[in-house]
Amino acid sequence: MEIRNLIIIGSGPAGLTAAIYSGRAGLRPLVVEGPLSGGQITTAAEVENFPGFEEGIPGSELVARMRRQAERFGAEFLFGSVTSVNFFEEPFEVTVEGEERHRAHSVIIATGASPKLLGLESERRLLGRGVSTCAFCDGFFFKGKKVVVVGGGDSAIGDALYLSKIASHVSVVHRRDKLRASKILQDRAFSDERISFIWNSVVEEIYDPEVGKVTGLRLRDVRTGEVVDIECDGVFLAIGHLPNTALFHGQLEMDEQGYIITRDGTKTSREGVFAAGDVQDKRYRQAITAAGSGCMAAIDAERYLVEKGIIA
Ligand code: NAP
Repeated sequence: MEIRNLIIIGSGPAGLTAAIYSGRAGLRPLVVEGPLSGGQITTAAEVENFPGFEEGIPGSELVARMRRQAERFGAEFLFGSVTSVNFFEEPFEVTVEGEERHRAHSVIIATGASPKLLGLESERRLLGRGVSTCAFCDGFFFKGKKVVVVGGGDSAIGDALYLSKIASHVSVVHRRDKLRASKILQDRAFSDERISFIWNSVVEEIYDPEVGKVTGLRLRDVRTGEVVDIECDGVFLAIGHLPNTALFHGQLEMDEQGYIITRDGTKTSREGVFAAGDVQDKRYRQAITAAGSGCMAAIDAERYLVEKGIIA
């Protein structure tokens, strides 16, 4: 079996930027695309803050361009998901779709993170039609409208503050009577007259899948059991993210939330394995920061291969 220089797991901005850099360095990387080709950003209708695209660009188009750029430099793409890895021995082994095995001297993990969802059927049907997991991506479409943010952490309150500049009103629905968010964000939100709070409440239903857009919510007070319907035009879920790291448990060092720990650039606890993008970043989570760390990982991997004498 051929032993490659580098396998990149994931095809969002981090993985694709790693592919551009490592392709250009002559490493001929293999990119295993994963379940959502192009990553989370493909769900953004318009990306307005990626430098160089002054008019904005659809997320799917942005990653399509990155991919063509990577292909131009010799990156190869494999459709499918990694189902297991073996990082205990070098060369490392990566299995795709349970059968196809690939080996490489180095690996870049760029599997990203997935926003947590509530788990409602109505939520699934209205995702992208008024239900969003990204205020920065979709807030713009709710100019002058009423929106709800679900959650009580920094993301939720950050989203509420962002949306209050766009929407006519923002209601924050939180399952407790205390926010988890940092004090400074709380203070700002409490003094913003366009933001109100609905405490001790959970979303039981999102209306109305039958009309194909969000028209309101059914909320349940977790203390009294009382149920109320409220009207709104959009729902932003900010109940946390889950890093896509299940594959690597027991093989790489992770923090208590399952994010891969990187040190000295993009190095993981296993020499020769690097991590880039949201899989190791719970703080910034932007396409441009993911792309930046993908570049770093490619440089780190190339240096590692040179130090090991695998490439000249
Ligand atoms: P988080 O801190 O885990 O907060 C998630 C929130 O959603 C919590 O308030 C939680 O309620 C609620 N929640 C979780 N599951 C729920 C469910 N099934 N139904 C209803 N509510 C649910 O996540 P985050 O806000 O995304 O922040 C993640 C990390 O990134 C944190 O370390 C945060 O500090 C950091 N971050 C920082 C910034 C910043 O510095 N500006 C911005 C964003 C994120 P409970 O409170 O009851 O658990």
